[in-house]
Amino acid sequence: MYEGVVQDLIDELGRLPGVGPKSAQRIAFHLLAADPVDVRRLAHVLVEVKERVRFCSVCGNVAEEEQCRICRDPRRDLSSICVVEESKDVVAIERTREYRGRYHVLGGAISPIDGIGPDDLRVRELMPRLADGTVTEVILATDPNIEGDATAAYLSRFLKDMDLRVTRLASGLPVGGDLEYADEVTLGRAFAGRRNAGD
Ligand SMILES: [Zn+2]
Repeated sequence: MYEGVVQDLIDELGRLPGVGPKSAQRIAFHLLAADPVDVRRLAHVLVEVKERVRFCSVCGNVAEEEQCRICRDPRRDLSSICVVEESKDVVAIERTREYRGRYHVLGGAISPIDGIGPDDLRVRELMPRLADGTVTEVILATDPNIEGDATAAYLSRFLKDMDLRVTRLASGLPVGGDLEYADEVTLGRAFAGRRNAGD
């Protein structure tokens, strides 16, 4: 335990995902020793990101305007929507260059243990996007782990009676992990080899 503001810093860092108490301490002491200019730049970007970045009104991806870059792009294929858990998954899929449609970012995955159900995710927001018949395929690209599978199973039941092709990424992704951990080639292949959900 340290005095005052140093401990505050360690506590705040320790609340970040994937940062345990030891890492929090290491980062705190790195910042204490760092050039003030570098630390000020970090502090500035933290404030800036909360002030400037918001979520796209259409797909839920991070955006600096009312709609994200992808939803604003007229060259994107309007007939398909790829459903992902987080914005970082959009980035991972974009890197594969395998997909030209649009996205729908749920903001997480169903996880009964954490008390997260479908109503806590952007599931309802998906329905108006499917209403006019423009979208003919929904690709479920949730993470290849228990929560991701549960979310995909829920969504495929939810979409079952709609006049849509609902697909799931092919297997071959590292099981138990995050979509973002798959390399571009593997993720690209999983995309190209997608199959009908429920098969
Ligand atoms: Zn968007």
